[in-house]
Amino acid sequence: MHSTPTDNRIPTLAHILIVEDEPKLAALVGDYLRAGGYDASWVADGREAIPAIKAKLPDLVLLDLMLPGRDGLDICRELRSFSDVPVIMLTARVEEIDRLLGLELGADDYICKPFSPREVVARVKTILRRVRHSGEQPGNPALRIDEATHSAAFHGVPLELTPVEFRLLKTLAANPGRVFSRDRLLDNLYLDHRVVTDRTVDSHIKNLRRKLEQAAPGQDPIRSIYGVGYKLEIE
Ligand code: CA
Repeated sequence: MHSTPTDNRIPTLAHILIVEDEPKLAALVGDYLRAGGYDASWVADGREAIPAIKAKLPDLVLLDLMLPGRDGLDICRELRSFSDVPVIMLTARVEEIDRLLGLELGADDYICKPFSPREVVARVKTILRRVRHSGEQPGNPALRIDEATHSAAFHGVPLELTPVEFRLLKTLAANPGRVFSRDRLLDNLYLDHRVVTDRTVDSHIKNLRRKLEQAAPGQDPIRSIYGVGYKLEIE
């Protein structure tokens, strides 16, 4: 289940990270996800969750509430400080869900145990479809991002992007108009933990801008916010 990510690795299947301390349950859910066409990996200890999320950049996290090492609430809070990855919380008690909803943790859905693995796969599918559609920005057909093929087009012109530029554009496009700090963008840029600087972000942004400009002369949808970071604005 463990793989060593490199910068060149472009995942073709959506990757689901399972954070669950019951090995049999995790294995069962993993099997169903793989059968459903997803890539899945698993960590059992709460302390491993954040490092695994940063390393693997999963497309969705299934997060158990009660975990050894660190509980799911705490993990979800920290996770939201650097990532918008969809989270489905798994909880053993239905009455906990009301409490969790009240905490506004930023989880996208909640599933009560015991659950059927089929149900989990169905929820994963629904959420990923929703996320994917919002990334495509139906209101802004100028920019098309296709996660399945890792390709993008601007005003109908295909963009030839490096994996890093693709991730950068995907991150910015997921929330148009929202300002991303360089730190935040850096978190999403590399699958490994290389040491990079703000300048690295600036130089990737510069290249991305040049490619967007080449695709649609006169258009410059990436705005620099002085001292803060960048945002994407498409007319
Ligand atoms: Ca548990």
